[in-house]
Amino acid sequence: MGFERIKGQETAVERLRAVIAHERVPSAMLFLGPHGVGKSTVALELAKALNCLEAPGEGCGACPSCRKIAAGVHGDMDTIAPDGQFIKIDQVRALADRLGLIPFDARKRVIVLREAERLNPAAANAFLKTLEEPPEDTLLVLTATSASLLLETIVSRCMPLRFTPLGAETVRAILVEEGKLSEAELDFAVRHSQGRIRAELLRGAGRLMVLRDELLHALEAMDRLTFDRVSEHVQKWSGADEWAFVLECMETWYHDLGLLGAGGPEERLVNGDRAEALRRWGRRVPPARAEACYREVLSARDGMLLNVIRPLALESLWISLRQIALQPEYP
Ligand SMILES: [Zn+2]
Repeated sequence: MGFERIKGQETAVERLRAVIAHERVPSAMLFLGPHGVGKSTVALELAKALNCLEAPGEGCGACPSCRKIAAGVHGDMDTIAPDGQFIKIDQVRALADRLGLIPFDARKRVIVLREAERLNPAAANAFLKTLEEPPEDTLLVLTATSASLLLETIVSRCMPLRFTPLGAETVRAILVEEGKLSEAELDFAVRHSQGRIRAELLRGAGRLMVLRDELLHALEAMDRLTFDRVSEHVQKWSGADEWAFVLECMETWYHDLGLLGAGGPEERLVNGDRAEALRRWGRRVPPARAEACYREVLSARDGMLLNVIRPLALESLWISLRQIALQPEYP
């Protein structure tokens, strides 16, 4: 199988089919969209389609060319990804050297540059030279979350292709195919997907579900928790693998409460699997108060992204939420 195995990016795939059919494959393309919506998968299928021996323009998945591409052993295909935080100049130079050689046996050599927004300045300028003098029979596919994070001179030399967030049913179908999650984990992962296949959910939906419930339990009991207990929680929740998800859970929880308070539809609740708890909270927490808590969480997250000391930031968020919760009246 080739393009037809792609789920949820029909518009992008149709555009690629048309580009191939009209023999208008450019020397560089820029795939734009959030992480986890299928940009790299589509790039792989595009490489197959351009070189398939059985179903040119589509990809069969079974011929020697398709099989080598799928296994990552095709001599003319390559993927370049950030080495640590950045794509470095040495990686770009090695690519340029390689592109100086003629393709080994591909009709169209395809090089994918993942997360192009992480080209460091020197690497970006070096890469620009490659784009300015594109080698023959080669397609460079850049992926990025936003064109605004790239040099304008790079963007202007690429044909852009937009990828959209995935619908819940598409996310579910892809996760089912992966076959790693139990039914409850699957439901949780779909609810928290934000329209993407999130690696952390695929890896640890069960663990994150436990973390979410522990957090909700603590939030609900916040006026009875001792300071020591809060510190214990905060230490644990500040971990590198936890803090972002803990904040996300607080954010979705207060957002859900606001939505419920405003009479919004239950199917839009992220934490709809805890709808009973949400309704119980809703009787105690008026929408204005939920909204105030939500804003506190957002501002704490902005601070934490700027690298303030995480346990301190979480503790101070906790104190603010507690103050809002304990106010006898809220306007
Ligand atoms: Zn094939």
